[in-house]
Amino acid sequence: MSQLAAVRLSHFLPPLALLAGGLVASRQPVLNEFFTSLFNVLPTLLLLLGGAFCLGYGRQRELFLLVVTYAGYFLLDTQADHYHAHGQVMAETPLIFHLCSLLLPLLYGLFGAWRERTHLVQDGLARVAVLVAMVGVAAALARRFPDGLLEWLVAVRWPALQADWLALAQIVYPVFLLVALVLAVQYLRRPRPLHAAQLVGLVGLLLMLPAVFQRPGALNVLTSQVMLILVVAIAQEAYLMAFRDELTGLPGRRALNERLQRLGRQYVIAMADVDHFKAFNDTHGHDVGDQVLKLVASRLRKVGGGGRAYRYGGEEFTLLFPGRDLEACLPHLEAIRQAVADYPLQLRDRGSRPSDNQQGRRRRGAGAAGQASVTISIGVAEVGEGQRTPEAVIKAADLALYAAKGAGRNCVRAQGMNRRGAVRVAPARP
Ligand code: GH3
Ligand code: MG
Ligand code: MG
Repeated sequence: MSQLAAVRLSHFLPPLALLAGGLVASRQPVLNEFFTSLFNVLPTLLLLLGGAFCLGYGRQRELFLLVVTYAGYFLLDTQADHYHAHGQVMAETPLIFHLCSLLLPLLYGLFGAWRERTHLVQDGLARVAVLVAMVGVAAALARRFPDGLLEWLVAVRWPALQADWLALAQIVYPVFLLVALVLAVQYLRRPRPLHAAQLVGLVGLLLMLPAVFQRPGALNVLTSQVMLILVVAIAQEAYLMAFRDELTGLPGRRALNERLQRLGRQYVIAMADVDHFKAFNDTHGHDVGDQVLKLVASRLRKVGGGGRAYRYGGEEFTLLFPGRDLEACLPHLEAIRQAVADYPLQLRDRGSRPSDNQQGRRRRGAGAAGQASVTISIGVAEVGEGQRTPEAVIKAADLALYAAKGAGRNCVRAQGMNRRGAVRVAPARP
């Protein structure tokens, strides 16, 4: 299944909103005293808060992104403060500014694309070594050959591309472009909030650098926003880790439990279970089994009638219909069962090796070697006389699911009703 399916606008909305807020604030001619003080301490506060969080949870990559961004801010802040206070820059300011403009995107891109490794200490030491080496070499060159280095940095290499509105040294733009490409590819290959935030954070740095000497406060505001974008993404990832099932992308058991606490007086709960999944796994392998779970989840996610799908655990899913009654939900459950059954699966060679009778039963599509389909059974129940709590309704839905399995699988069974496609089964006994 393509990773592009996991690309979400919601990954970009929080960082873009923060960046837009930062741009508006940084363009104010004067910020009031409260906001000036806030943005003066915010980068340091975010480094401490975000850094503590990263250290606690072993998130090296984000820690180094925060450190690099803060280091750039720290170096530029002294220069910007002097300029805004005295109306002129210090002798070393051009070299520091242009060197920061080059190193900031370079290091940001390097640490942003550097995937977390399992060995925390080794990984951390390797990152420190790279950081110290790069900054050390740059500092040594700046000290030894200040004029030559500045000349190299600001040289106009491509006169045809030079324009007045390009406020940074020419060499900086291809670096930003390259890093943006790397981070964009990273997001497309693994779409997750942090990767989106890194990309938007890079845009924040590109907008921040030219504003350093243009407006007082712009450096503080935009650095704060870039760091905030990273910290918010870290929090968002922690939330997703706790509430979203990693394999299928559906909300997981914890999210379901939370939702069950906030149900009203009327609701329907359905339990869906993949048929003969153990045999499927044994025949085609666990990795193909995982792909099937993703596929089933992608169909269940599209359930109509106001339903919401959760991964209950293993190959079991829960469909929750708040405010609905059983009758209204049955056609949607039937449609989703049919949609799963109708989806043809293309299997790899390994899958065409028959090994037992059960596997033979799993095969569909005569003549089409390597093609199969999975089916699901669904049991459904609604809140009512027999069951007044969500737990009891889940139990009743489970009972109906057993009935669906007993009736030959690939069907919907409802508790307490007799409808087309749904046969009444005994209500749960307390
Ligand atoms: P039934 O039709 O009665 O539901 O039969 P079944 O084989 O599906 O039922 P059973 O509960 O015995 O098997 C469930 C299997 O699901 C066992 C386990 O190997 C597999 N399974 C559970 N979680 C995962 C998962 O995350 N990935 C994969 N690939 N398999 C899983
Ligand atoms: Mg099961
Ligand atoms: Mg099963």
